This record gives sequence, C-alpha cells and structure tokens, in this order.
Amino acid sequence: MTKSGMMVLAAAAAFQASAQSPAPTPAPWTLSEQQVRALVEKVRAGRDLAPKGWPDGARVAVGLSFDFDNETVTLRDGRDSVSQLSQGEYGARAGLPRVLRLLDKHKLKASFFVPAVSALLHESGMQAIVKGGHEVGLHGWIHERNSQLDEATERELMKRALDTLERLTGKRPVGMRTPSWDYSPYTIKLAKELGLIYDSSLMSDDRPYEVVASGQPTGVVQLPVEWILDDAPYFSMDRVSTVRPTMNQDQVFAIWKDEFDVAREEGGLFILTMHPHISGHRARAAMLERLILHMKSRPGTWFATHEQIARYVKQQAGMK
Ligand SMILES: [Zn+2]
Repeated sequence: MTKSGMMVLAAAAAFQASAQSPAPTPAPWTLSEQQVRALVEKVRAGRDLAPKGWPDGARVAVGLSFDFDNETVTLRDGRDSVSQLSQGEYGARAGLPRVLRLLDKHKLKASFFVPAVSALLHESGMQAIVKGGHEVGLHGWIHERNSQLDEATERELMKRALDTLERLTGKRPVGMRTPSWDYSPYTIKLAKELGLIYDSSLMSDDRPYEVVASGQPTGVVQLPVEWILDDAPYFSMDRVSTVRPTMNQDQVFAIWKDEFDVAREEGGLFILTMHPHISGHRARAAMLERLILHMKSRPGTWFATHEQIARYVKQQAGMK
C-alpha cells in the first residue's frame, strides 16, 4: 500500500474511533435524577416562537434549504476515493445548476448552507447562488463534527468559515446549520458569540423555538429540522458500505406532501433539507418540482429564506 493510502486508512480508523461515544462515567443506570437533568438541559428547547400568523395572512411558512456539501463529507471522513469525490463533485457541476434553474423558474428564494472548503472549491457555484438572490449560511469548515472538537478549535473553524463565506459572497452569514446536525457543548454559545441569529440543526419541535443552554435563553432562533425532511437518509448510496437508497422519489414525495399539508393545517413551518449532489439528480429534481407545484397550488404558502423566517419570528416575539 502507498504511504498516502496508509495515511488515509489511519485517518479513517481514527475517525471511526472518535465517532464512538465514550463510555459514560458513571454508568448511565447509576446516574441520579439531578445528573440526568444536567445532561439533558445542556441544550434544550425554550419558548415556542411560532407566530400567530405568517406575513400577508399566509397559513404556512416554507423554507427550502440545500446543503452544498459536495466533496466535503468524503474529505471529513478522511477518505480520498476518486469515485466518492466525483459523486460529490456532481453536486456543484450538475446538481446546483439544475436546482438553481428550478428555483428561478418558480421565482423562489432558498437557503444554501455551505462548508467553507466547498465554497473555496466551487467559487463559480457560490457566485451563481448569490446571483440568484439566495441566502448563504454557515455549514462548518470541512463538514467537521463539532462534537469531536475542543472549544478553541470549534471557535476558530467557525470564524474562519464565516470570514471565507463573507469574502466569497460579499455578505456575512447570519445563520447556521451544523454539519451532520452535530452539536458540541459549545456550539450554541459560539453561535451567539459570533452574532448568528438562528440555527437550523435541532429537532425538538416542528415549530420555531428559542434555544436554551444550561437553563439560560440564548436569543438564538431554532428552525427545526428532521431526518424525515432530509433527502440524505432516503437516497444516499455508498458502494463500499451498506448505505443504500431506501425509497424511490414517489414514496418520498408522499411523505413530504403530507408533512407540508399538516404544517399548513396547523399554521406551521415546513423546513426541507436537501443536497445538490443528491436532489440535484434528474428524477429527484422532477419530484421536487412536483412538490413545489403542490405547495404553490395551496393558498397562503409563504416561501422564504431561513433568514427571512428567523427575522419575522424574532420580530413577532418581540426579541431584539
Ligand atoms: Zn452537510
């Protein structure tokens, strides 16, 4: 084996080891109620921020988001497979233009969460996103898992990613989605410290809420996500592992349509997470267009960027 091949294997092994949760001390079944409470209260859902109504009498807010990951998940996992990297490159080369054409055709603005390394690799893609009038939000440096970082490293990567995205887009991001929706004990504190107004990575509700850290309201708006509203668990494919697509696009359409219909009945929020290297493929982009047409056919659908939704929610709740 080549030296670089061995280094990649070593990095992958280190990653696998660090991805395992450390054995908790003390053992979970010996924790006191107080200790259990301290654990779950590190980051919690605070007050409900669902507004009484959406702008102009709309009944539902729709936030379409695309995580522009491309090659960074492969790189984050310490791999250098040419085949896997090409699977990621598809997102920038073919997926993104198709997604942007679709959004433009339906006059919709979306939010793109971009690892800074992906932005550096695909500067023309970033320019196309900005030209389309879409929002760009933070999505880590190289799709790193925050829970594997110490506080200083996490802060430095977050700052460097913010600076990079600002330089490439002309605007400093105001919101984030953490890579793999992973959180460290410091993530929310750092988001607040760096002036972000919202996060879209946690799953405590369908409705927007304020994030609370160790009992203290943070002022950061959460626009919640869920794996059922993410294209990756349904469609991901990795030849070397057991990861395979689990559903076809018609089955996923049925789930997303019902999620939207109930969100509308409840006057709620519909946040959809997609990836240009996954949903940018032809059959899935066709399904996304069907979903957009369905949502547009229902009166009172407010399509907005995550930033617009977060600002509206804050204003309605009287938050500074
Ligand atoms: Zn991602």
